[in-house]
Amino acid sequence: MKYDVIIVGAGPGGIFAAYELMQSDKGLKVAVFEGGHMLEQRKCPIDGEKVKSCVGCKSCSIMNGFGGAGAFSDGKYNMTNQFGGTLHEYIGKEKAMNLMQYVDSLNLKFGGEGTKLYSTANTEIKKLCLQNGLHLLDASVRHLGTDVNYIVLENIYAYLKQDVDFYFDTFVESVRAEEGGYVISAGDREYVGERCIISAGRSGSKWAESLCEKLQIKTKSNRVDIGVRVELPAEVFSHLTDELYESKIVYRTAKFEDLVRTFCMNPHGVVVNENTNGIVTVNGHSYEDREKHTENTNFALLVAKHFSEPFRDSNGYGESIAKLSNMLGGGVLVQRFGDLIRGRRSNASRIQENFVRPTLKATPGDLSLVMPKRILDGIIEMIYALDKIAPGTANDDTLLYGVEVKFYNMEVELDERLETNHPGLYIIGDCSGVTHSLSHASASGVHVARCILENGGD
Ligand SMILES: Cc1cc2nc3c(=O)[nH]c(=O)nc-3n(C[C@H](O)[C@H](O)[C@H](O)COP(=O)(O)OP(=O)(O)OC[C@H]3O[C@@H](n4cnc5c(N)ncnc54)[C@H](O)[C@@H]3O)c2cc1C
Repeated sequence: MKYDVIIVGAGPGGIFAAYELMQSDKGLKVAVFEGGHMLEQRKCPIDGEKVKSCVGCKSCSIMNGFGGAGAFSDGKYNMTNQFGGTLHEYIGKEKAMNLMQYVDSLNLKFGGEGTKLYSTANTEIKKLCLQNGLHLLDASVRHLGTDVNYIVLENIYAYLKQDVDFYFDTFVESVRAEEGGYVISAGDREYVGERCIISAGRSGSKWAESLCEKLQIKTKSNRVDIGVRVELPAEVFSHLTDELYESKIVYRTAKFEDLVRTFCMNPHGVVVNENTNGIVTVNGHSYEDREKHTENTNFALLVAKHFSEPFRDSNGYGESIAKLSNMLGGGVLVQRFGDLIRGRRSNASRIQENFVRPTLKATPGDLSLVMPKRILDGIIEMIYALDKIAPGTANDDTLLYGVEVKFYNMEVELDERLETNHPGLYIIGDCSGVTHSLSHASASGVHVARCILENGGD
């Protein structure tokens, strides 16, 4: 089969690239290859009763399939250059913002209309943070919620499938450069694309890394974020979440001068498992539908670790820490803040008697046996700092789940079109190291599609 453009991965990067390519009148033949299932077949077997923890499905329905890692996410589209990726470093701040706003308009068009847009502009909270040594980053955030996000994906798929060939449950094994294009090999068949966009996301990052190695595309890997997910009564953070929904707050620790930041805040949300390459870590999301609201808010506290030569395997470092928690707890560990600071593990009865009810069934344990001291000290300092702007954060009953890891993987050497040293081969979204969020990944897809169209398209 011959295509003008082959896209690997149907996450936000791949979806919005396909969408934008279909807007041209060139009648391009576009195919999207996705290792996971189509949207309606994506079902995680964990039901909290018969299946309580990750069973390691061949294709993880949380991470893979139409919609990518974002399909069951909270659908928070942060429009900002301050976090979520470094797309602006390649294409300029204004262009990056315009693309993110364009993606927002498409989300509204495909079912997100009526969802709320929050903004940090002109807020008193910024002042409150500064007065307490905390820094609130600027952003507007569209909160679709897991339910509306799903509807938007359903609608985009219904629109795209009319013109785009989708191959689901079709993992692309290899991509090789040949005269006139790229030959991809998937499910015992070969397909040729004049151009090829790789958007394999976080779950496909190892595969993308080996692809870069084979094609001699330069990469570097030096960052990983490690931390915990905090869960507390929604009231504690309500003055922040009611006004901003998501607040990205950064704190510099007094002890080591490390930066600790809040990440992925989910008012009235749930804490969930995340499976990356067989390693179970923690994440969170929430629903727009009030009936699905819980009494808790959760968010991550992360510390960024940057490594220098000769160490290159920052992901391996993060994985080893996550593996330790999996080894001790068979998955994610949960600990009361009160237990952590008293130097004792949480056990089933302490969690049972805790005032904050956990929304994820995790194994009670001791995070100090898992997390490096420097990182854990930073997190504890940040919890006390947050307690000043949101009293109650440092309560004994606050729950900490570990480990939350943000894998950044490699940063691929790309030009301003996100094109590799192989003409017509683009690497976008989270697997490129350029993006780490829905907004940025989607915007990178639109950007590359426009570059292809400007360049003739065929
Ligand atoms: C639980 C959860 C909640 C999140 N919440 C938010 C949020 O609220 N806001 C936010 O900004 N971000 C959030 N994120 C992160 C966000 O989902 C990602 O940043 C975003 O999905 C990245 O998009 P992507 O297209 O680069 O990759 P992905 O979404 O990871 O998609 C990549 C796709 O490629 C497929 N693939 C990989 N390799 C191959 C191959 N070789 N062949 C075929 N297919 C392949 C995968 O199956 C996957 O479906 C969340 C992530 C998770 C897991």
